[in-house]
Amino acid sequence: MELSILGCHGGESSKHKTSSFLVDGVIALDAGAITSMLSLEDQRAVRSVLVSHAHLDHVKDLAALADNRCQQGGPTLRVFGVPATIAILREHFFNDLVWPDFTRIATPVGPTVELVTVEPEATFAVADGYEARAVLVHHTIDTCAFVVDTPAGAIAYSGDTGPTDRFWEVLSGAADLRALLMEVSFPDEHHALAKASGHHTPETLAVDLDKLHDQNGVPTLLYHIKPVFEAAVEKQLARIRGRNMEICRLGEQFIL
Ligand SMILES: [Zn+2]
Ligand SMILES: [Zn+2]
Repeated sequence: MELSILGCHGGESSKHKTSSFLVDGVIALDAGAITSMLSLEDQRAVRSVLVSHAHLDHVKDLAALADNRCQQGGPTLRVFGVPATIAILREHFFNDLVWPDFTRIATPVGPTVELVTVEPEATFAVADGYEARAVLVHHTIDTCAFVVDTPAGAIAYSGDTGPTDRFWEVLSGAADLRALLMEVSFPDEHHALAKASGHHTPETLAVDLDKLHDQNGVPTLLYHIKPVFEAAVEKQLARIRGRNMEICRLGEQFIL
């Protein structure tokens, strides 16, 4: 499995891009940085986007991706999310006000965008050979993690979350887990802000990682660090011992 880091920060600047990861060139996990990081040709190869929740830093590039896809003549871009996420995208994003409703704009091969609602914990087909499950996590709006099964093993993506339980239960039983993309946002001294906004600090992350069983040594790739607090969070993460952890860097590729 090939994993590309398109965006891995909890904010944006010329050196920071918001959450987006690409699996085997065809499945995107969130859309914080797709069009700003991929050529037109590579954008067209993206068949599906799994959206963890409707916050702008995770969905914004759906706008330009849909627009380009329409002019490219397809194929249909399939956007998956739990019910609340899809409802928000319909009402507040592809609503013919903020942006055209690309679910009703056709290409020669079908609609430009298809919004697909998935139920938490139910397995669904994402693309040929790829299945996924959504698992609800703890954030300020309905948010899910995803566990994606690929022909070369599974990868898990936490979405935005603070301390949570069910995700770790599901992961502890996941077969052939190759990597975990895990959020951490604020430094420990901003724990009140992290708690109020449904995010992790290094301290709460260390406690949550202990809930993961029977996945010893799974590569844990950290993302969503707030750019303003980058140095402080990285320093505090360095104190967590005994984990196979790495901080994601823009443009990195992993073969898992
Ligand atoms: Zn969020
Ligand atoms: Zn976010």
